[in-house]
Amino acid sequence: MGCSVYTKRVTISTSSRFEVVRITDYVESAVDESGIKDGLVIIHVPHATAAIIANEYEPRIIQDYIAWIKKAVPPGAGWKHDMIDDNAHAHIASAFIGATRTFPVVNGGIMRGTWQEIMLLELDGPRARRNIIIQVMGTKE
Ligand code: ZN
Repeated sequence: MGCSVYTKRVTISTSSRFEVVRITDYVESAVDESGIKDGLVIIHVPHATAAIIANEYEPRIIQDYIAWIKKAVPPGAGWKHDMIDDNAHAHIASAFIGATRTFPVVNGGIMRGTWQEIMLLELDGPRARRNIIIQVMGTKE
């Protein structure tokens, strides 16, 4: 049997400049809908000022993720791009954290650890539309 590809777009909104949005359920649903049993799932955010991460989603650690980003790439720290639209920190954090994560799909399930939730990092919100592309590739048998 050949390889199948299933692509789903999910659009969410964010309400703060920095925000952590849990998106695991969208990814789980997409894998279920795909009917694909073995392969890969790619989670991609096609934006230059957001990122995708996979780790624990807990009220304190999600504040820590944002605190780390602000320390690593402080907003307004004299970045040249801020002269254009005041969001250089968001571009830099997105570039280095990454806009894409990949997981194995085995026997119809995402191979992720108990404490590996999938999250969108909003780095320059609030935004009315953030698109998340979930692509599942593999075999159905
Ligand atoms: Zn910009």
